[in-house]
Amino acid sequence: MSDRLTLIAGYIGLDEGLAVHNPADGQHIATVRDWSPDDVREAITKADAAFKIWSKHTAKERAAILQRWYQLIMDHQEQLALIATMECGKPLAESRGEVAYGASFVEWFAEEGKRTYGDTIPTHSAGKRIMTLKQPIGVISAITPWNFPVAMITRKIAPALAAGCTAIVKPAEATPLSALALEVLARKAGVPDDVFTVVTTRDPVKVGKVLSTDPTIRKLSFTGSTAVGKILMQQAATTVKKTSMELGGNAPFIVFDDADIDAAIAGAMASKYRNAGQTCVCTNRFFIQDGIYDEFVSRFTAEVATLKIGDGRDAATRIGPLINEAAVQKVENMVSASVAAGADLLLGGSRHPAGDNFYAPTLLGNVTMDMPVANAEIFGPVAPIIRFSHEDEVIKAANDTPYGLAAYVYSRDLGRVWRMMEALEYGMVGINEGILSTEVAPFGGIKQSGIGREGASCGIDEYMEIKYCLIGGLDR
Ligand code: ADP
Repeated sequence: MSDRLTLIAGYIGLDEGLAVHNPADGQHIATVRDWSPDDVREAITKADAAFKIWSKHTAKERAAILQRWYQLIMDHQEQLALIATMECGKPLAESRGEVAYGASFVEWFAEEGKRTYGDTIPTHSAGKRIMTLKQPIGVISAITPWNFPVAMITRKIAPALAAGCTAIVKPAEATPLSALALEVLARKAGVPDDVFTVVTTRDPVKVGKVLSTDPTIRKLSFTGSTAVGKILMQQAATTVKKTSMELGGNAPFIVFDDADIDAAIAGAMASKYRNAGQTCVCTNRFFIQDGIYDEFVSRFTAEVATLKIGDGRDAATRIGPLINEAAVQKVENMVSASVAAGADLLLGGSRHPAGDNFYAPTLLGNVTMDMPVANAEIFGPVAPIIRFSHEDEVIKAANDTPYGLAAYVYSRDLGRVWRMMEALEYGMVGINEGILSTEVAPFGGIKQSGIGREGASCGIDEYMEIKYCLIGGLDR
C-alpha cells in the first residue's frame, strides 16, 4: 500500500502514534505523529514568528505561492483522491471531485488576496480624513472533520494564508493523511516553514483546548458538530478570539406538486447519497406535497435500489462505508426507533454485508416530525420522507429545528420560489438544485448551524481585521 502513499512517505512509518485505518475493510494504512499539547504550543510560537515575515510579503507574492500550491494539488489529484478514499471511505469519483473542489479555494483566494481593499470614507469634519486598512488577524487555528479531509482544510487555510495569516490545523483523528499530503504540497509550492503546520493527535480534546485558548491564536475556524462547536466557542471566549463555526444541519428538501420531477429525483439522489449521507448539507428531511408524493416515492425508491455499495476504490461503487462502528450504530438506532414510532420501511433498514461499517441505503415513508430521523442530523444513507399539503405548513415544519444550514426547494412557480427563499431560515437555499457548494459563493449557516461564511469574496474577511485610521490637523 505504501507505493500509493509516496506523497506522505516521510510522515507515516511510525511504530507509535495515531494509527489510521481504512473504514471499508479495517486495514491499517499508516501511523502518524501524535502531537502533545506542548508540541502544539511550540508550533504556535513558531507560527507567531513566521507571521511577522509572511504578513510582510506583498499579496502578490503570497498569491504566486498559492497558485503553485493549487497547481500541485491538481497535479496530484489522483494520489490525493486515493488517500482520501482510503482514510474516509468515499467513492473515488467523489474524492477526485473533492480534490478539485478543495483546490478551487486555493486558486480563488490566491486571487482574492490581491483585492482586500480598505476604504476612504468621506470625512465628518474639515481638516480630518478617514480611511480603513484591512490587515491579517495573526496566527489562526483550524479544526477540521473527516468527511471532507481535503476541502475543509483548503477552505480555511487558503484565505488565511492569502490574507497574510499563519495557520495551525488539526485534522480529524480518522483522516490525518490528506492533511499531511496537503502540507507536503504546500512546502513544495514555497509556503515557508511554520506558515502552515498540520498537527495530528490522538487527543483532540487536549490539543483542541490549546488551539482554542492559547493567547497567541487570534482566530479559530471550526467545522464539525454543533456540540463540539459550542465547547470551542466557550473556550475561545476566554481570550475573546474571533471564531468561524461551520456546524451541523437538518436540511429540508421540499418538492411541490408543480416541480420538475426528473430534476427533483436527480437532486434528491445527489443531496442525500453523496458521501453515504455524511455531509452537513445532505438532505435530512424530504417534504413531498400530496399530489406528487406517490410518484416521487416510487421513483426515488427505484433509483436508490440501483446504488452499488462497496469499497470506495472500486470504480462502480456509489456508496462507501460509514466512518466507523459508532456511526453505524447511531444510524441503526435512529432507523429502528423511527420504524417503531410508525414510519414505513420502504427500502434497506439494516447493515449491509459489504463490511462492518456499511449500512444499506434506506428510505422511510410517512415520517412525522416527532420521529428521531426528522430531528437529529442523520449522517448516513437514510432518507426520511414526510408528506405535506400546504406551503405555510411546510415552511413551519422546515424551520422547526435549531439548525439552519442548507435547504432545497423544487418548484416551477416563480412566486412560490421567492416566498420560499425568503421564508426559509437557512444560510443557503438551493432552488431546483441538489448541490450548491462552490468556491465562488458564501457557504455557512445560521441559528445553531454556525457563524461566518467560507468561500466567496467575503471568505477572506474572516481572517482580517478592519483598522480605522483618522488623520487630523490637515487644515492647520
Ligand atoms: P464528527 O461527529 O463529524 O466527528 P466532531 O465535532 O466530533 O464531528 O469532530 C470534528 C473535529 O473536532 C475533529 O477534528 C475532532 O477531532 C475535533 N474534536 C472533537 N472533540 C473535540 C474537542 N472537545 N475539542 C476540540 N476538538 C474536538
